[in-house]
Amino acid sequence: MSIEVKNLHKTFGNFTALNNVSLDFPSGELVALLGPSGCGKTTLLRIIAGLENPDTGSVHFHGEDATNVHVRERNVGFVFQHYALFRHMTVFDNVAFGLTVRPKETRPSNEFIKKRVHELLELVQLDWLADRYPHQLSGGQRQRIALARALAVEPKVLLLDEPFGALDAKVRKDLRRWLRRLHDELHITSIFVTHDQEEAMEVADKIVVLNKGNIEQIGSPDDIYNNPASPFVYDFIGQVNLFHSRVDDGWAHIGEYKLPAPEHNNVKGQAAVAYVRPHDIELSSTNSEGAIPARVAHVSTAGSVLRIELLHQLNNDVLHVELPRAQERSLNLTVGAELYAKPTASKIFLQP
Ligand code: ATP
Repeated sequence: MSIEVKNLHKTFGNFTALNNVSLDFPSGELVALLGPSGCGKTTLLRIIAGLENPDTGSVHFHGEDATNVHVRERNVGFVFQHYALFRHMTVFDNVAFGLTVRPKETRPSNEFIKKRVHELLELVQLDWLADRYPHQLSGGQRQRIALARALAVEPKVLLLDEPFGALDAKVRKDLRRWLRRLHDELHITSIFVTHDQEEAMEVADKIVVLNKGNIEQIGSPDDIYNNPASPFVYDFIGQVNLFHSRVDDGWAHIGEYKLPAPEHNNVKGQAAVAYVRPHDIELSSTNSEGAIPARVAHVSTAGSVLRIELLHQLNNDVLHVELPRAQERSLNLTVGAELYAKPTASKIFLQP
């Protein structure tokens, strides 16, 4: 089912949580709402769910105005950060809950419920835990059970609010991949709130970046990463180096140094902030035009990547560089060693 929100505005006292937000969530997509704490992600999700009313604006489910439809009639499934499982019920009863509380006329038979719950537990690969109680499960298992419970009533829409937020990094990573696979199987329109850009990049078909109640950018993970629409997005998605420069003659001048300006830029003869990603910078032991002298301050490794912090001579600020680990031997990376850092011209992003 597709969802559309139009001109949503929501204030709490004199604080604007959502500022005239309009968005389409196409049927069957997994969309991440991404932004820093307090940007309005949860408020948007709660309005779509029907748990919160907008001041103005509307919510449409499959083209029909659902703004005044009660939460129970919206046919949405929820999973929240803090496991909302009933402590006194077994896993089986938790998953069955949405079906057993239906009014007599629409309540399925016990046999149907049993079959459905086991199907769902198989889907989340936890059928063997049916008789356990929530306190006998790990955090990750609880969230998978919470998802099975949300799916029991065959929701048309799945809303997930930081569902893995309370789990440790390794479990989080596993569950993200697991959620992506599950979504590929079920294709339920899903909206996923997160403040973790890596999580959004890995899980979502599409990312909506929110900042202070406004949409900064909507796009695929690749789009958002490679073509950030604003300095905020550039800074928020992945690490970035920034330099205050003046653009002229194809160069972004920074004091006595200069970086090559990308060919297609609209900035001419004016001040601009130049943004460069750590993996778009080359290091060399020899100087060349467009390179910045810098000294190695710290080196660490993350998997096959070398993370190097250098102090550059432009303003003695830290420059973050990432290189494949294979280059470790060809450079002198001892602390204090002098190197030349050269950003790739086409990868520099200029913002007037
Ligand atoms: P987080 O990642 O921290 O959960 P968020 O992006 O989900 O943040 P929201 O929960 O949507 O942010 O809140 C947006 C803003 O609205 C916040 O500044 C919050 O303090 C405020 N807010 C949310 N709900 C209420 C409320 N019921 N009363 C007053 N202010 C609220």
